[in-house]
Amino acid sequence: MKYLGAHVSAAGGPDQAVLRAVEIGADAFALFTKNQRQWRAKPLDDTTIEAFRSACKKHGFAPGQILPHDSYLINLGHPDREGLAKSRAAFLDEMQRCEQLGLTLLNFHPGSHLKKISESECLTRIADSINHSLAETQGVVAVIENTAGQGTNLGWHFEHLAEIIEQVDDKSRIGVCIDTCHAFAAGYDLRTPEVCTATLDEFDKVVGFKYLRGMHLNDAKSEYASRVDRHHSLGQGNIGLDAFTTLMRDPRIDEIPMVLETIEPEIWAEEIAWLRAQVRDD
Ligand SMILES: [Zn+2]
Ligand SMILES: [Zn+2]
Repeated sequence: MKYLGAHVSAAGGPDQAVLRAVEIGADAFALFTKNQRQWRAKPLDDTTIEAFRSACKKHGFAPGQILPHDSYLINLGHPDREGLAKSRAAFLDEMQRCEQLGLTLLNFHPGSHLKKISESECLTRIADSINHSLAETQGVVAVIENTAGQGTNLGWHFEHLAEIIEQVDDKSRIGVCIDTCHAFAAGYDLRTPEVCTATLDEFDKVVGFKYLRGMHLNDAKSEYASRVDRHHSLGQGNIGLDAFTTLMRDPRIDEIPMVLETIEPEIWAEEIAWLRAQVRDD
């Protein structure tokens, strides 16, 4: 079963995100549980939590079909003590919000070295940050997203993801989300069924499908291996539709939320229907 959806707005409360997912025919969705461009947010109150939980129940969304995304400000590999502490506190808050909402996944970008520490020091710092947050929470899996490698962001190489996972104590609560636009921009080709499958094989070899807990389905305005992060609607960018057909037919990708972060919300329903039509059970 392929769960398909989009990163929908949670304006008006997280329960509204559920309704927006239903409107576009989704059986998966992503959301921010707080404003993604601010450090602070008011705590979730009981009414909000209850509204979200009952909307999910009513519309048949199990926690494994929902992939919340953390704030863009957080850098779990921050080279400075103060910056790291601030990021860790904000990430713990994000994890706790997920716990309160009954969610079991939290998608985040690993972090940036800001040219102040080495890549491997930064990756260790990210793993330590994850270990801290897992020790203080229960039931939420930390889902690292591969990045396009823009600026000093790490996580664009599958090896980076593997190096972080290796240093996480509780392997049952660490996972990965592959963003197709980010992978393509980072130099993993997806343009034909053959190269797309080869990229997935490479992921399996370096990281392992058992860690794959979500996907972001985006075409790319950015060029191949450009290390630039620019999403596009499916079939309108440099990746092209073949990649998405291939992903829909790969049996290794199953029972995880596959979420559009494409740039035209008006056509999400159409994109989801198209993706669903690509699935072939044989
Ligand atoms: Zn992301
Ligand atoms: Zn993404």
